[in-house]
Amino acid sequence: LGEFGLIKRIRSRSLMRHARVLLGIGDDAAVLRPSSHHTLLTTDLLIESVHFDFSLSSPRQIGAKAVLVNASDIAAMGGTPQTVLVSLAVPGPTPVKQVDKLYTGIIEACHEVGADLVGGDTAASPGPTFINVTMTGVVPSGCEIRRSGGNPGDLLYVTGTLGDSRAGLSILQSARKGRHRSFEQYLIRRHLRPIPRIAEGAILAKTRSASAMIDLSDGLSSDVIHLCEESDTGVRIDISRIPVSEQFSAWCRRTRRKPGSEAIRGGEDYELLFSVRPRHEAKIEKWIRTGGLSATRIGFLTGRKSGFKILDERGRLLPLREEGFSHF
Ligand SMILES: [Mg+2]
Repeated sequence: LGEFGLIKRIRSRSLMRHARVLLGIGDDAAVLRPSSHHTLLTTDLLIESVHFDFSLSSPRQIGAKAVLVNASDIAAMGGTPQTVLVSLAVPGPTPVKQVDKLYTGIIEACHEVGADLVGGDTAASPGPTFINVTMTGVVPSGCEIRRSGGNPGDLLYVTGTLGDSRAGLSILQSARKGRHRSFEQYLIRRHLRPIPRIAEGAILAKTRSASAMIDLSDGLSSDVIHLCEESDTGVRIDISRIPVSEQFSAWCRRTRRKPGSEAIRGGEDYELLFSVRPRHEAKIEKWIRTGGLSATRIGFLTGRKSGFKILDERGRLLPLREEGFSHF
């Protein structure tokens, strides 16, 4: 294939779907038309052995995930992905075929989230592989949902289910021989292939229904504190309300883990955590009932002085810590 062949191949597969993109791969820089919407920019650096491991996932899966996690950050602002730039540093002797597989994953995920790959760079690394993805997105002017907009009394919701990715990683790391059971396969897929909640974020932004929002990358227990610190509030989370999948529950039973404390610690869930003013509660609850929004209410924001609290399975109010919570 060769290096030039590779670039040609990437170029031919990176569709220009957005009218705003005047020029993509192939020149010194990409060209975008101005937009009446606000532009969002985000970037993420992934380092081999720190953020991903070629022994646990394929180059194609790693490439896809690098794009999907950026799309989750765009979704967390209420935006829609538009363009992507990728910089790649791979160890000198890496075969072109391996790089091509990374790009296959990158391009697949770009299509999945509706973004155009408009440029990037590739270099030789003296150490591990580095993947840097930069993504732009758009949001209706003034509708972006910040972390800082929460108020005491706002209700707290989360999309999807929590803990699946953490369980999937744990299953991959345990390197058990033989075929995985179907619930294990589900959890592994949830770890390797996050689903950025773009539609959910966009509807919340367009209708100005959420006061604050963040996507869960570190885990609920730490990311909720990031939202509260920016909003200058406390929080109370009811652990019995945290949504988990039946596959996750099965894994917890098998490994004798407590679902609540596992799910709240989570990690790489890439679900959206958002707060809602009481006057929007009825609307949100109706969307949830009618299937327009997959989300669960898990608690509410409080005054800063009330601190970060969790109501455990036995009805005790315990302090929430970044790494979860502790029974004392
Ligand atoms: Mg984020």
